[in-house]
Order: sequence, then C-alpha cells, then structure tokens
Amino acid sequence: MKTLNDFNFENKKALIRVDFNVPLNENFEVTDTTRIQSVKPTIIKTLEDGGSCILMSHLGRPKGVQEEFSLSHIVDTVEDVIGVEVKFVSNCIGEEAIQAANNLQAGEILLLENLRFHKEEKEGDVSFAEQLSKLGDIYVNDAFGTAHRAHASTTIIAQFFPQQKCFGYLLAQEIESIQKVMETGEKPVLAILGGAKVSSKITIINNILDKLDHLIIGGGMTFTFVKAQGGNIGDSICEDNKMNLALEILKQAKAKNVQVHLPVDVVATNAFNNDADTQIVDVDKIPKGWQGLDCGPKSIENFHNIVMQSKTILWNGPLGVFEMPNFAKGTITLGNSIAEATKNGAFSLVGGGDSVAAVKQFGFQNKVSYVSTGGGAMLESLEGKTLPGIAAILN
Ligand code: AMP
Repeated sequence: MKTLNDFNFENKKALIRVDFNVPLNENFEVTDTTRIQSVKPTIIKTLEDGGSCILMSHLGRPKGVQEEFSLSHIVDTVEDVIGVEVKFVSNCIGEEAIQAANNLQAGEILLLENLRFHKEEKEGDVSFAEQLSKLGDIYVNDAFGTAHRAHASTTIIAQFFPQQKCFGYLLAQEIESIQKVMETGEKPVLAILGGAKVSSKITIINNILDKLDHLIIGGGMTFTFVKAQGGNIGDSICEDNKMNLALEILKQAKAKNVQVHLPVDVVATNAFNNDADTQIVDVDKIPKGWQGLDCGPKSIENFHNIVMQSKTILWNGPLGVFEMPNFAKGTITLGNSIAEATKNGAFSLVGGGDSVAAVKQFGFQNKVSYVSTGGGAMLESLEGKTLPGIAAILN
C-alpha cells in the first residue's frame, strides 16, 4: 500500500483529493472542521518536504454552478486550520486553474472550486479527469468520504499517474482501522448499528455477521425488527418492506452464533419534539399515537454490559434522536460505555456522519480509538467491497 511516506514532494505539486464537504450554516460559515483537520497531516507533509499542494473537493450536491456551494466560503477556515495562506481559483479546470497551478511556489496551497460544478466529475468523465491531472505531479487521495464513488477526481484520475499516486495519511488510517475490525480484531467483536436509514444499513448486516459475536441494533431501525416479530410499535418509524429481511437476519445470526441485542424498552413520545410528553414502555408495546425516539433504561444497562465485554467495537448510527436532548440519553450513555471499554483496552471504531456528529457533540472523539470520516464509504468497505477510489491507487 503506497502512502505519502513513499514519496518526497520537494519541488513537486501534490494534487490532493480531499473531502471538504463540510457543513455550513446560513451565513456560509463552517460549523464542523473535522474533515479539514483530518487531512492536515497530509498537507503539512507535502509542504514540509518542500512541495506545494493543490486541493480539490466537492461541496454538497450542486446542479451546475451554484454560488451557495462554492468552496470560496471555506477558504478562511482552511487557512485557520492548516495555518497557511490558501489561494483559491474559481474553476477547477481551464486556463485559470492551469495558470494558478503553474504559479504555485513551494510551501503554497491552492484550493480549486467545487469539482461538482462540472457534471463530468460525478460521471467519471475521462477527459475531465485528464484536465485535472495536468495540474499536479503526484496524485494523493485522502478523501475517504468519496472513496466509494468512481468519480473523475476520486478514481478515474489515477490512471494518469501510473506510478505517482498514493494514499494520504487519513485514507491509509481509515483502511487500517477497518482492517482492525474486520480482519485482525480481537474477540469478542461487537457491532452497534443505529440511526434512521434502515434500508441502507439493514442490508449490510448480512455481510458483517460472519465477523461478529454480538450485534446491537438501535435507533429507528429497531422498529422494523420489532414489528417483524409481531410487536406493537405505535407510530415509530418502520420500513415495512424490510421486515422479511429483518427476520432473515435474525435467523442467520442465530445460525452463525451471533447474539443480536435489540432495545427492550424505549422512551416513547406523542409528538416528534423535545418537549412532548414521554413515557418509558416496552419496545413491543408502544401505544398508538406514540413513537419510540430513544432506548429506555433497561436497554441502556444491557448495552453497557455487552460493550464492556467486547474487545473490538464498531459503532455506526445513534441509538435515538440525539439531536433533541430528551432523546439523547441512549446515545450519550453508549458513547460513555465505549469510552470506558476503550480505556480498558478495546479497539473502538466510530463511523457514519451522524455517529461522528454525536461523538463530537458529546465530547467522545478522543476517548474512542478511531473516528471515521466516511459514512457510506465505511459501510461499503464493511460489506467487503473494494472501494473504487482505493482500488485505483492499488492498481
Ligand atoms: P443515519 O444517518 O441513518 O445514521 O440516521 C441518523 C438519524 O437517525 C439521526 O438524525 C437520528 O435523529 C435518527 N434517529 C435515531 N433514532 C431514531 C428513532 N427512534 N426515530 C426516528 N429517528 C431516529
């Protein structure tokens, strides 16, 4: 696996695909700098070698050129985080970009405008990728969040750097952390899957079951499993068309000796807001008009005990609607348990957009072993897929 340390960037232009798809508020200020901070070591390495770097990224899902998705909004924040002045060019290809890249001196950083202002980026267009490739001498992929997409800048571009391509530190670390969970992890291995997107996660459980000793299912996906087993879930979210799959997963888990743990009780509410009435009820006896938005005290205790027994822990997705303080307790307590297990020697990997947000919001980021920056990319690698962005560097 070629990483940055295999290269010396002296007098070279590193063309680095980063993931600066950061959240912005209504004033276009960056509200979470994690993704910028996480590529800092890669950027600093290329500069300290005596090179320069050209950063390319997407932001959001623009349809053509849309000012609100301009990466110009984040230039100041990138400067603050990296501690080096950042030049900006308002088109990622074309004369202007070529000029800006040519003028770049050792120690300087150039940020290109949003790659997705060109539809060719997502289409994986070869000639668009070739134009980008002309800007740098060595291609570095450090964007784990998009490594599962065969886009021009994440995958297709690599062919124009047959030897001069490598993983950045972040991507290398992501790959190693996933290996630690899926291949070399000490037993018992526990996966905790929560969040709302039942359909995107339920299908991958199948693929990771073989590696697990325990599986905790929480958050909104709970209710598909509970309803499938005949429970009353009231108005809780549920994907009826995934109920058969849920039953199949439970059957397979049993056959593979994986213990599945669902919440036994929930904090139910009669309206989806923080100040609505709540009651603790059994997970399979939720009254009509009520919905489960967090796991209850008995579930929290059960989950704590399982976490404390585990030596390798993967966590994706909150156990409740943690954005509302009255439904955050399950997620916070789980974070505390994982922190404690990690302190006792377990390896813990947290990944997925919302788990990362929760981990940061509640201050757990330094108390777990590794916080992944890519939700979809992490889940796809956990399915055992080779991500196109990773394959393109390895080939
Ligand atoms: P995901 O992106 O799939 O990880 O989903 C994260 C979202 O799931 C968060 O915004 C949570 O508020 C939401 N969530 C977690 N538990 C529940 C629940 N019981 N009902 C509705 N939404 C939930």
